[in-house]
Amino acid sequence: MTATNGFCGTIGNTPLIRLDSLSNATGCEILGKAEFLNPGGSVKDRAALGMIEDAEKRGLLKPGGTIVEGTAGNTGIGLTLVGNAKGYKTIIVIPNDQSPEKVELLRAIGAEVRPVPPAPYKEPHNYNRIAAQVADEMGNAFWANQFDNTANSQFHYDTTGPEIWNQTGGRITAFVTAVGTGGTLAGVSRYLKDQSESVSTYCADPYGAAMWSWFKYGHFDFDDGDSIAEGIGQGRVTENVDCARVDDAFRVTDRQMMATLNILLKEEGLLLGPSSGVNVCGALKVALSGGPGQTIVTILCDGAQRYSSRLFNPEWLAENDLKPEDQSLEVLVAQLNEEKNEPNEKSSSD
Ligand code: PMP
Repeated sequence: MTATNGFCGTIGNTPLIRLDSLSNATGCEILGKAEFLNPGGSVKDRAALGMIEDAEKRGLLKPGGTIVEGTAGNTGIGLTLVGNAKGYKTIIVIPNDQSPEKVELLRAIGAEVRPVPPAPYKEPHNYNRIAAQVADEMGNAFWANQFDNTANSQFHYDTTGPEIWNQTGGRITAFVTAVGTGGTLAGVSRYLKDQSESVSTYCADPYGAAMWSWFKYGHFDFDDGDSIAEGIGQGRVTENVDCARVDDAFRVTDRQMMATLNILLKEEGLLLGPSSGVNVCGALKVALSGGPGQTIVTILCDGAQRYSSRLFNPEWLAENDLKPEDQSLEVLVAQLNEEKNEPNEKSSSD
């Protein structure tokens, strides 16, 4: 028998996909870790399982208990499905500007969903602070606290990192990914550096976030602009971000992200969500700045279906100035090469 153990047993051990068109265009091996193939459909299944198992071990989550979390959606989906498999209820507090698909899915799988108006972290009405309060006021409830609970990044250290190291036969030279909680970047960067200090690690950041500024310059002076990418874009050093070991950072515009998503679909047959576009464009930037011969790994976080009312909607794309034009790989690579000379600025074509 080679059967896996229930829902939780199917989390992780995702394939590493060679992105042929991008690899051939850059002379690098550009590899995407297929986290969208996790059973809950995203990289966040790992954080969900890691935090729940850790809470069980610490006695913070007891039989019949309720998991409460503030989440842009994917962590909530992972927590709800792991919770179902283990016999816990879930309450999900979500900003009401997230895609309707994620809210519908959360309700369909059995979460109690509480949409709230978006508010910055420092405000008492921030979705994460509301989640903490809900858990505090309930009996037998556990606030997962994905941003500052380092069981999140530890699970990536224990699983995603070793998988990437083994799948590349130790030949990985660079890792790049965006930050939501920072769990993926922290756990994987730390594991890879522990194997070999010569592996370079990078953050790919959308505009409107402060991680690029933080990792590059150690301050938050550059958090300008905005992005439609959900699940990423952090403005503070979370406990998970604090564990990361990062050498450098790149910023990715939404137009570069959309061009990358189109290339991944048309050239690779991969239908992926916005954060994967930021990550793969980040990998392209690493390839072009470091030159041929690198083996670069990034994360394919989730699929595009979770955002279909936006990404597959020509009016929405036009409203957000994201309507596809000439988005061939050649054009994108030429734009990124031009941009290399002015790395702190938005691409002149945006
Ligand atoms: N992409 C998507 C779609 C996500 O939902 C998240 C998590 N919020 C991330 C990327 C970032 O992952 P992490 O929280 O590990 O930084």
